[in-house]
Amino acid sequence: MGSLEIGIVGCGIAGQAAAGFLADAGHVVTLLERFEQPQAVGAGLLLQPTGLSVLRALGLEQEAVAAGARIDGILGENQWGVRVIDLAYGDLHPAAFALGIGRSPLFDLLHRRVLGAGARLVTGVEIVDVEREGARAVALDRKARRHGPFDLLVVADGASSALRPRVFPRARAPVYPWGCIWATVPDTHAFGATGLLRQRFFGTSAMLGLLPVASDRLTLFWSLPTAELEADWPLDLAAIRRKALALWPDAAAIVERAVDAGAFARATYRHVSLPRCNEGPVLLIGDAAHGTSPQLGQGANLGLLDAHALARSLAEAGDVPQAMERFAARRGTSNRFYGTASHLLTPFFQSHHDLLAIPRDLVLHRACLTPPARRMLAASLAGLRRGWWTADTLDADGRYPL
Ligand SMILES: Cc1cc2nc3c(=O)[nH]c(=O)nc-3n(C[C@H](O)[C@H](O)[C@H](O)COP(=O)(O)OP(=O)(O)OC[C@H]3O[C@@H](n4cnc5c(N)ncnc54)[C@H](O)[C@@H]3O)c2cc1C
Repeated sequence: MGSLEIGIVGCGIAGQAAAGFLADAGHVVTLLERFEQPQAVGAGLLLQPTGLSVLRALGLEQEAVAAGARIDGILGENQWGVRVIDLAYGDLHPAAFALGIGRSPLFDLLHRRVLGAGARLVTGVEIVDVEREGARAVALDRKARRHGPFDLLVVADGASSALRPRVFPRARAPVYPWGCIWATVPDTHAFGATGLLRQRFFGTSAMLGLLPVASDRLTLFWSLPTAELEADWPLDLAAIRRKALALWPDAAAIVERAVDAGAFARATYRHVSLPRCNEGPVLLIGDAAHGTSPQLGQGANLGLLDAHALARSLAEAGDVPQAMERFAARRGTSNRFYGTASHLLTPFFQSHHDLLAIPRDLVLHRACLTPPARRMLAASLAGLRRGWWTADTLDADGRYPL
């Protein structure tokens, strides 16, 4: 297929990665972003071996690793100090690891890459609708300006996508009943030196997470019901401090610092499910297509994999409809697996049903002590699963083969 005119809505992780790959491939790419000044929004995150491989394909892996913190595993304990989750990427391959990284450094890397690849960036345009013009698509912004027509319009406007209901009126994207607050703080007590994402659970109604995101910084997460995350609901910082200190006394200094700074951001999540990922020349990728709760730490990684798969599908196919079929075949089962698995797991980690913590702790504790189950869980965490019964493996260097 020759060079296409491609529009991408959303200058986030998935949209920028797609813009980089597609501009490299010689397509004429226009990136449409609602903010005047594109910016990183959201908490520090965990890039799995899958997401890191996509960054490598964009030539950004080394810079990302230098900006982030190497993560060798996950350790989650309950209020009695019992190990509920104890997983290591090294169980998959001695050289395998993940990366904790702040949104800003990741955004900056992708942003420079997109501009360097020659994609055209149009900011301050909130896209609210899409129209078909024959086989092509036009994006309409809030001021009724038309952008396009494009041979392919990639919708990457995130979990609260405005375009999703326009393209798929029956798509569902309910907000989860629980979300979290988060803050990035200096790692004064060398938590990052453990190379672990660490979590503490009290039943299912309290969870404190510490993710190293740089050599000297951590992102702290505290679980809260969505009703308490409304912008006008004042955070009860005194109660959060008291509960967090009781749950994890060793993290007191970090908690105190975050609470004293009071600079918590609020995050909610949606469970997005679509009947399919495209409608003619309009394709949804990233959270717009399969947003989920972050229990398995996959969202950004799935968006990066979507971006890579899209570029490959276009390179192989004879026309856009064929490329859409190839894309769906590449990404459909994996995206569905992670969406469903995250959805099923969420009440066991964030809900009012504290009793669910009992089977959770019993099953996961045993599974993490049983080598085949432990490897299976580590593969799920690393992003390797293609579906319920199949998983990819890492290559001889411990990397995810794209
Ligand atoms: C607390 C929390 C922790 C998380 N932790 C992890 C983790 O550890 N690992 C992981 O992989 N994932 C994690 N995630 C999920 C991850 O943040 C998302 O999956 C990822 O950001 C999705 O990227 P995206 O590009 O699809 O959407 P976004 O990053 O949301 O980008 C969407 C872009 O579209 C723009 N936009 C929106 N609407 C419009 C419009 N109408 N017109 C034009 N532009 C528009 C936005 O301004 C934005 O730039 C976490 C999420 C949360 C909330």
